[in-house]
Amino acid sequence: MTMTDQTQQTTGNDKEWLRKKYLEERNKRLRADGNDQYLQIKGQLAHYLDDPYTPVTARAPKSDHVTFAFIGGGFAGLVTAARLAEAGIRDVRIIEKGGDFGGTWYWNRYPGAQCDTASMVYMPLLEETGHMPSEKYAHAPEILAHCQRIGRKYGLYDNALFHTEVVSLDWDEAKSRWLIRTTRGDSFTAQFVGMGTGPLHVPKLPGIPGIESFKGHSFHTSRWDYDYTGGDPDGALMEKLADKRIGIIGTGATAVQCVPHLARAAKELYVFQRTPSSVDVRGNGPIDPEWFAEIATPGWQQRWLENFTANQAGGTADVDLVQDGWTDLNKRIRAKIIQLPREQRTPPNMLAAFEDSDFEKMEEIRARVDTIVRDRETAARLKAWYRQLCKRPCFHDAYLQAFNTPGTHLVDTDGKGVEKITESGVVVAGREYPLDCIIYASGFEVGTEYKRRAGFDLTGRGGAKLSDYWASGMRTKHGIHVHGFPNAFFVQPAQGANLISNVPHNLTEAARTIAMMVSHARMIGAKQIEVSKEAEDRWIELLLTGPGRMIGSQDCTPGYYNNEGQEPGPAAKLSVGHPAGALAYFKYIDAWRSNGQFEGIEFR
Ligand code: NDP
Repeated sequence: MTMTDQTQQTTGNDKEWLRKKYLEERNKRLRADGNDQYLQIKGQLAHYLDDPYTPVTARAPKSDHVTFAFIGGGFAGLVTAARLAEAGIRDVRIIEKGGDFGGTWYWNRYPGAQCDTASMVYMPLLEETGHMPSEKYAHAPEILAHCQRIGRKYGLYDNALFHTEVVSLDWDEAKSRWLIRTTRGDSFTAQFVGMGTGPLHVPKLPGIPGIESFKGHSFHTSRWDYDYTGGDPDGALMEKLADKRIGIIGTGATAVQCVPHLARAAKELYVFQRTPSSVDVRGNGPIDPEWFAEIATPGWQQRWLENFTANQAGGTADVDLVQDGWTDLNKRIRAKIIQLPREQRTPPNMLAAFEDSDFEKMEEIRARVDTIVRDRETAARLKAWYRQLCKRPCFHDAYLQAFNTPGTHLVDTDGKGVEKITESGVVVAGREYPLDCIIYASGFEVGTEYKRRAGFDLTGRGGAKLSDYWASGMRTKHGIHVHGFPNAFFVQPAQGANLISNVPHNLTEAARTIAMMVSHARMIGAKQIEVSKEAEDRWIELLLTGPGRMIGSQDCTPGYYNNEGQEPGPAAKLSVGHPAGALAYFKYIDAWRSNGQFEGIEFR
């Protein structure tokens, strides 16, 4: 009997069988070309990047000076500019390639898009803006509107440059400022610069032979073409698809959210799957204004943030305010470890407890497929055979159900991916599926180098290029400061808390730190802020004392979490957080910035 035949009989007890099955599924998907299997969107494909949402308007180039320029108008830019404004620094210019604020929430307007970390902790500055999220997991239009609300509240629109991409950033040592050039002919200076270009903002296409030859319509999910589909980002029926055969390539977190909407609207929907996602219960619901009014006492959001992190990222807390799939994951592991007598709580036993809890969880998720999907073969093919954190865990209450819709077909490629694209459709295992439209839910560039993803390089003191300095991986203190690149701040999770389950928490903390440092520099009349080489080296040494990833990435099915299953390069080793975990980092950084010493940083 093959392992696939055994699928229906597996119980959580047969760990050896599961380990072998996971490995078999992983090996099936390994490809020698790793990240190179994807196409960079340029040249003939460049139209896939066009902004379908906002027309580009003409404007005169800027040649002035600002105190702070921030690259990226997503959460990172918004929260940093907000904290700077609170500290009295209002001369902040955000440069954004989209036509408005929002970053990922500007681009991702596909039907069904919503946050999958609870709104109460995911949406930044709720308390400051007085906004009550309407749902436990808010939908994209509400999050985009919130970004605009932050922009308005802190006066960020006046100075912002939209539809503008930075092409170079050069440090001028004599003047202690950065020279910024853009695609719109701007050439202006800023004393400080912030980088919030986001980890997932460059869409990629699968390198499927024949992709350029398709004569029907096509687009990437992050540039949803509502003119073609009808409907809107609020989830109105996409009425123009009623007579269309639609193919969607990819079954990651994006596809999980938009497939139910496509299934409802399209005449025929073909979902081309290479690796199934794990899809657990979502449990979304409206937020009750009376309940919210009761809990929203001063400091509420900070308490919620700390509580979520304590529950999710290795801490302990008496209560779990958020109560969702993320906190459940950690509580289960903790419960297993607590069962062990104290003297047996060794690292190998803890890893074994983690594996046990993972097997149990994944068995539940696989069993859930059987309770929802009526066709047995489709159900079997929708089951994920890997550890839950090998890929982005998904949570949804309509995705699996969509496969019960007449006209919706799962085309499983048995790990091989789509074979080719022709003028008229998609070919899998020698069979052509004729289509009117192909939607690429193929994700974003992650493993490519920073310069390619950011679209520019930084030239720091003495002409040093950031791309050279980071050639073997990121080097920072706190994930924020880089030696040789004074007055530049990076706002992102790595080498800080690295809290992946709630990225905005990393950003709001970094924003606080940066605003305090810039205020301090102004107070003491310093023109430059720079981390010393020694402090940066010490921070990197500290990071490398950590346990690394809990799940060996070499055991995981390929994806962007593990460099597509390729041997991780030196850079991956440095893409970590504080060795004691996210909660410890947040406590540490609060103490570090509050004592006024800013140890390791030179103010000149
Ligand atoms: P992903 O990179 O997660 O998914 C890409 C999909 O395309 C995968 O299913 C991949 O298969 C598939 N694919 C690639 N090449 C081929 C091929 N040749 N044939 C068939 N299938 C192919 O992208 P997403 O846009 O779904 O998600 C990216 C990230 O964005 C998420 O992981 C998450 O971090 C974030 N996100 C967050 C959301 C939220 O918070 N609400 C919602 C949506 C996204 P394979 O798995 O085999 O590589």
